[in-house]
Amino acid sequence: MSPTIAIIGAGPCGLTLARLLERKGVDYVVYERDESDDSNRRGGSLDIHAETGQLALKEAGLFNEFKKHARYEDTSFAIANQQGERVFQIGQARDAPEIDRVLLRQILLDSIPKEKVRWNHVLKSVTLEQDGQHILQFTNGSSASGFKLVIGADGAWSKVRASITPAKPQYSGNHYIESRINPDSPYYPTMVSKVGAGTLMCLGSSKEIVTQRQGNGSYRIYLGVTVPENFVRGGIVDLEDTESTRRLFLSSEFFGNWAEELKDLIRYSEDFRSWPLYYMAPEAVSWNSVPGLTLVGDAAHVATPNGEGVNCAMADALSLASKIATYGTDALDRAVVEYEEDMFRRGVEHIKSGSTFLT
Ligand SMILES: Cc1cc2nc3c(=O)[nH]c(=O)nc-3n(C[C@H](O)[C@H](O)[C@H](O)COP(=O)(O)OP(=O)(O)OC[C@H]3O[C@@H](n4cnc5c(N)ncnc54)[C@H](O)[C@@H]3O)c2cc1C
Repeated sequence: MSPTIAIIGAGPCGLTLARLLERKGVDYVVYERDESDDSNRRGGSLDIHAETGQLALKEAGLFNEFKKHARYEDTSFAIANQQGERVFQIGQARDAPEIDRVLLRQILLDSIPKEKVRWNHVLKSVTLEQDGQHILQFTNGSSASGFKLVIGADGAWSKVRASITPAKPQYSGNHYIESRINPDSPYYPTMVSKVGAGTLMCLGSSKEIVTQRQGNGSYRIYLGVTVPENFVRGGIVDLEDTESTRRLFLSSEFFGNWAEELKDLIRYSEDFRSWPLYYMAPEAVSWNSVPGLTLVGDAAHVATPNGEGVNCAMADALSLASKIATYGTDALDRAVVEYEEDMFRRGVEHIKSGSTFLT
């Protein structure tokens, strides 16, 4: 017999939901695209907020484990202009401790039985049969059905979404170009003395440079730029060619007239990769509930980065798990309707507060 609930996606949202259902004694299975639990090294540091992400971790019984890894010393945040002059600064006063994404995933994975996650299951489509059952088709040729509820926690390019709404994310006009400065870089000591802990956001001429210290002491750098959607995929820039990538971003077209110390962040950057930034139109985050299906996290309401994405996603997981516990597995449609009302409000607010740095 199939489990009651199928969750598509073992990201922070899907796994938080899985852990909450585990605690509530609801049977579920998670299908994940990654080949195994250590195949996703996609990193970045996430700040976890008190009213949303932290609350979900408390309800999941994982807050103490989280605190063992949380970096309260990296909560400091500063804004500078393109000359590198700090115009705003807060110390380590925010209740928004940082944690590396991979560590958060590991804490969540360790909290549920291993056999509940089916790795290497890339969802291709969801089809509705005449008997009202949803069938999950995977690219590995397998399929699964018999669930009372299928939950799309499969991120911005959700394959579950098309069975609920025709809405799709739209390109924001902006990319984050990510790179890093590691402890073995000759520039690292300067980085430590000039930037130190936490996050520094430098804004100017509709561009942005963000630095963020990671759990292993390295720094992530994000260059926020307005470029065509196919900037990287269409070959306008080849990020594999580090030298020419640095030259391009140091040119007058991008950061050429920024302060030398900020341009040093580009000069010493390595390992460039791109994040074209997408968002869902706020009016698209509303639909008539579809029996047996729903969406959580970025699948429902992807926004341009604003420091809330993972928190909003974990709040969705908490809300849906609470409604399921309230109404029980024989009234899942009612639970979903009430959850979606709550999620629509939160999702729209989240999208509207999306980053406006390039406008
Ligand atoms: C550059 C960048 C920086 C960001 N920084 C921050 C930040 O500092 N703070 C913050 O709060 N948010 C940040 N965000 C946003 C944040 O990453 C997301 O909001 C958050 O990860 C959403 O969680 P999720 O679980 O809903 O989706 P995801 O994290 O996208 O997880 C989706 C999961 O589903 C799996 N999956 C996808 N498709 C399929 C499929 N077809 N079949 C099976 N599995 C599938 C994926 O492998 C993944 O494991 C940032 C985003 C970007 C792009």
